[in-house]
Amino acid sequence: MKPIQMVDTKNQYLKIKDAIQQGIQEVLESAAYINGPAVQRFTQSLNAYMGCKHTIPCANGTDALQIALMALGLQPGDEVITPSFTYIATTEVVALLRLKPVFVDVDPVTFCIDPSAIEKAITPKTKAIVPVHLYGQAANMEAIMAIANKHGVFVVEDNAQAIGCNYTFSNGTTVKTGTIGHIGCTSFYPSKNLGAYGDGGAIFTNDDALAEQLKMIANHGQKVRYYHDVVGCNSRLDAIQAAILDVKLKHLDAYISARNSAASFYHQAFANHPNITVPAVADYTNHVYHQYTLVLKNADRDALNTYLAEQKIPSMIYYPVPGHKQKMFSTFGLPEVNLPVTDWLTERVISLPMHTELDTEQLTYITSHVLNFLNK
Ligand SMILES: *Cc1c(COP(=O)(O)O)cnc(C)c1O
Repeated sequence: MKPIQMVDTKNQYLKIKDAIQQGIQEVLESAAYINGPAVQRFTQSLNAYMGCKHTIPCANGTDALQIALMALGLQPGDEVITPSFTYIATTEVVALLRLKPVFVDVDPVTFCIDPSAIEKAITPKTKAIVPVHLYGQAANMEAIMAIANKHGVFVVEDNAQAIGCNYTFSNGTTVKTGTIGHIGCTSFYPSKNLGAYGDGGAIFTNDDALAEQLKMIANHGQKVRYYHDVVGCNSRLDAIQAAILDVKLKHLDAYISARNSAASFYHQAFANHPNITVPAVADYTNHVYHQYTLVLKNADRDALNTYLAEQKIPSMIYYPVPGHKQKMFSTFGLPEVNLPVTDWLTERVISLPMHTELDTEQLTYITSHVLNFLNK
């Protein structure tokens, strides 16, 4: 059996090695290392794949979120509603910009931000909502957009874990997550579903004026070289990464199918087990399984984690400390919040290996050891 990894980027690479090496070689020989044709080509391919009006590449997913919030013209102290049950980047950028993160609870079934909790957290200072399409399925965007439109606030989607995911509105229209809110953000961190071989990110919008702001902010606040209209930053997608991503984008839908096959294998093994809740997929979305995350009932999650490690099966807790309990926010004078679903999930979730290269032998080994432990 091949060693089991949480994410197997190496074997995925070996299957597309020639195309990747050709892409890299072209960039090296073009000597266009910054914003050259490779970056332009990938940006166009991605824009077409997403079906949105504007795609702005940038250096990483955290920058994408930061630039998105910078483009909204918010004032220090303005409130941004976000889940606490997410990767730290989502809320870190809010604090970095001296905005106020307002942590709300998530839905216990989808693990994504709970629209009714958003509605309750709205105040006159609320300026934006940042839903996260956690683990690879969409948050309830129709409900979120309705709340945002009612209160005149912006929506910035954190689509770092869900690139390629579809969202279907009640009128039957289907679009890609990341293109529904005013701005969408994604990451090309190597372990993401569309992963580079280094850092990368992108920002999406259908709004021409926001697109102009986003481009300008990502490029030192300039439209015309050396004329700086606003305070920006330097956030570029590397040309070599763009060439790699352009090759990998062609495989993204096949990668999503492979992830779904692994998920069905897990699902069949675990769905009827009394101690396991398998991921449930809401009817408005599909799932691109960035993570395959179980919720354990009446079982020692941390002991399972240790037991699996002893069998050479990696497993991860995403995330061991939710945002509202992170020390970094303690100096922010945030009010105490009570997020029972977030706390409950934090103690019970465990993510199993999930990637495009898992074979039946590995999946059988993983599932039988999880079941062994739980049936002991
Ligand atoms: C990965 C990730 C990010 C940040 O992306 P980087 O490219 O690592 O900066 C932001 N939000 C979520 C939910 C993520 O999973």
